[in-house]
Amino acid sequence: MTPFPEPNAQLELAPDQAESLAHRLTLRLARDLGPEEAIRLLPALVRALTGAPPEPIQDRLRREVVQAARRLADLGLMAGTAGNLSVRESPSHILITPAGLRKGEMHPDDLVRLDMQGNKLSSGLRPSSEFRMHLGVYGVRSDVNAVIHTHPPHATAFAAAGIPLDRPVLAEAVLLLAPKVPVIPFGAPSSQQLVDHLKPWLADHNAFLLANHGVVCLGRDLAEAVQRTEALEFLARVLLAARLLGGENLLTHADLRGLRQSRSGTPADFR
Ligand SMILES: [Zn+2]
Repeated sequence: MTPFPEPNAQLELAPDQAESLAHRLTLRLARDLGPEEAIRLLPALVRALTGAPPEPIQDRLRREVVQAARRLADLGLMAGTAGNLSVRESPSHILITPAGLRKGEMHPDDLVRLDMQGNKLSSGLRPSSEFRMHLGVYGVRSDVNAVIHTHPPHATAFAAAGIPLDRPVLAEAVLLLAPKVPVIPFGAPSSQQLVDHLKPWLADHNAFLLANHGVVCLGRDLAEAVQRTEALEFLARVLLAARLLGGENLLTHADLRGLRQSRSGTPADFR
């Protein structure tokens, strides 16, 4: 019988061997954790196996913002140069997308670092003109680490019509967008008035329709803010189609109770 190697045995792996091993481990992880989580873990596995130093947090955040922006742009949620994303880099700094660039074509170095008063701490591009709105969110919500503002066409149609998304129609939307998605009264884009209109809603909500403008979604991390943005636009598309077909049926109280039980700890108070 082959002796089991000592736990501290040095294992030399060529980079391609390590990558192949990481891939196999990822497939196993995909069975246990689901494919998305496994793919997310793959780079860390490769680094661990090849002994490469872990990616610095600032670099990781910049890379993730660029990836998220590309995804949202590919989905058609940020036409032209519209939309802006930010993440909390530290308790006293955020990284925000620059003004005037197509967000799907950014480089990680294009992101702008701001302090919590809006002072620019990096050279180069100007920050998004909506930076006051982002800082307004971080100032009120210590649990939020990512803010995404987009112009998704169907959700923006509800914003333009002044119709909140406040009815329990789709299970995923109930879980992600609870308690509801309110319409925030119009304030000119980039204005302090827009921030003032948003503030009273911030404590209890994570997704917002900005009247005659677009949407804002918050997240404990960037992935959650992206997920909420996608869920909001999907809900709006489905509702629009369902209303053309005669109107949506609502989930019942019993359905909502079941949802709460299946995802304990997740609010599901859509009314
Ligand atoms: Zn906008």
